[in-house]
Amino acid sequence: MTNKNDSERVKKAVKIATKAHEGQFRKTGEPYIVHPLAVKKILEEWGMDEDTIVAGILHDTVEDTELTLDDIKKEFGESVAFLVDGVTKLSTARNGMRDIDTYLPATKDNFLRLMIALGDDIRVLIIKLADRLHNLRTLSALPPDKQKKIAKESLEVFAPLADRLNMGLLRTEMSDLAFKYVNPRRFEELKSMIDKYNRSAEKSLKKIEDEISAALKKEKIKFTVSGRVKSVYSLHKKLAKHDQNINEIYDLIALRIIVDDITDCYLTLGVIHSLYTPMGGRIKDYIAKPKLNGYQSLHTTVITKDKRIVEFQIRTKEMHEYAERGLAASFYYNEQKVTENYKKGKIEHLPTNLLWIRDLQTTAARLREGKKVDLKKLKLNLFADKIFVYTPKGDIIDLPAGSLPLDFAYRLHSEIGDHVVGVKINGKMSNLNKKLEQGDIVEILTSKNQTPKSSWLDKIITPHARQKLLHRLHKNGADGRA
Ligand code: MN
Repeated sequence: MTNKNDSERVKKAVKIATKAHEGQFRKTGEPYIVHPLAVKKILEEWGMDEDTIVAGILHDTVEDTELTLDDIKKEFGESVAFLVDGVTKLSTARNGMRDIDTYLPATKDNFLRLMIALGDDIRVLIIKLADRLHNLRTLSALPPDKQKKIAKESLEVFAPLADRLNMGLLRTEMSDLAFKYVNPRRFEELKSMIDKYNRSAEKSLKKIEDEISAALKKEKIKFTVSGRVKSVYSLHKKLAKHDQNINEIYDLIALRIIVDDITDCYLTLGVIHSLYTPMGGRIKDYIAKPKLNGYQSLHTTVITKDKRIVEFQIRTKEMHEYAERGLAASFYYNEQKVTENYKKGKIEHLPTNLLWIRDLQTTAARLREGKKVDLKKLKLNLFADKIFVYTPKGDIIDLPAGSLPLDFAYRLHSEIGDHVVGVKINGKMSNLNKKLEQGDIVEILTSKNQTPKSSWLDKIITPHARQKLLHRLHKNGADGRA
């Protein structure tokens, strides 16, 4: 059950969890402890810190066994107890919704909000993702309606979350596992399409690999090269964007080249372009301009001598690590290098909009060094383009950054939007031109006698509110009441 490399603390957690889950079984027929142990293994593969691994082993105990949060705090300390509590809250909040038939998509937003509200410590989400991954891997044991529901939720909530954290491997595995249950026929169809394509391309791909290798050696660039197989779900999504025309999918076959440093990335790009013809408009420099989730790489699509279209992805080892394991990799790196560069605050592969990850790393480092950390400070900033504001009753409403009070009002209800006379922000009277900010408490004042004004169109940024307002203005106009 335990590995010989496990620390005493991890061994103790396994012992306690095994005892607590004794007599419980999974739908697969196996003893329940198989599940937390699988979660442990996933978290280890992701390179997570010990507290997270211990919490992963214990993640179902408080909800499903006699063990209490106090017991966990006594045995494993505050930090582990905090994590287990977070995971428990996430799942109990979901259980409350379990019986609602219209679970999706109405609750998709709710669930995201819930995660934001509860996931003060990003590691709670990482444990939840590991938990979900194992549940997906063993989904066949559940009845079909549950399979569909869990699969759908994974596609709509968890896989995008993994993407937001740039956990590429996880996103791919999760979405393919889930898509298989959501749309089995389409899955098989696309899978055999990809297999067929790969088989037909195998030989020429080998030749391209050889050509590139020879050219890079000549330039004395150190590299490794490998083919990457496109995932079924990402092909599905791409085909939907391109009218199901497979000839417009240019990254069906891709080669990944990993080199030592950024200079070599650009040199390699030059080597590739001197061998093959680059396709116009297909060169993407995600090194200079990383994706929102921090992903970095150079992409180029070329036409080879035998008229094949091949995409190349060029990146450093660090970028590769980060692309595959994302946020988890940052914990890993932290462990690896409580080092010179790290101490100097130099983590070149983090774009400014992901600086929160650095904060996270700093905090993780402090935790590991046994220093005290204010966990409240580990606020999530996963949705940089969104703000979360509160109603006076504490409901969380997410809006695009830059939203105004009327956007908020129409989001609550069009009846509220139509009758706005004023707004209080954080308890103070404000005006309708005031941009809402992260964490504001917004109270909308209404009057039955108020009617919507066309001047309000300038005080709205969300399409939803605009549509509601236009609809009402039009209706009032047509009725001759405006
Ligand atoms: Mn679980």
